[in-house]
Amino acid sequence: MIKEFIQGLSITARHLLPGNSTTVEYPKVKYEPFERFRGLHRLVPDHSGEKCVACYLCATACPAKCITIEADEDENGRKYPTVYQIDLLRCIFCGYCVEACPVEAIEMTGEYELANLNREDFCFTKERLLK
Ligand code: SF4
Ligand code: SF4
Repeated sequence: MIKEFIQGLSITARHLLPGNSTTVEYPKVKYEPFERFRGLHRLVPDHSGEKCVACYLCATACPAKCITIEADEDENGRKYPTVYQIDLLRCIFCGYCVEACPVEAIEMTGEYELANLNREDFCFTKERLLK
């Protein structure tokens, strides 16, 4: 009993030492997300605008049904999204869209500062996702 008590105290004391804390003083200190953190999405750009070929696989795989895509073809017959939009208010950040994409046109970044006051600002359009 005493042994466990001392063990518990020593763990608490260890975390009180500078540099051993598991929390950060956000927002003064920014959290450094780990490599596989699933934050805001990003559409990968390429020479023609975006890598996306508007195949709808991400929208089909999305369990929250929060991806809206409208497609068109360019003069070379290549499909591209005229509209690509993610409603972050419905997104559960599962990453299925990234896994489903056959051309690695969408990825998830470490961006986690997504708080906003307007509902409209949670709709990330193609232009915003390409940034
Ligand atoms: S992370 Fe999940 S919920 Fe969010 S858009 Fe992708 S598939 Fe949908
Ligand atoms: S992001 Fe990928 S899966 Fe989604 S429509 Fe574009 S190419 Fe298809």
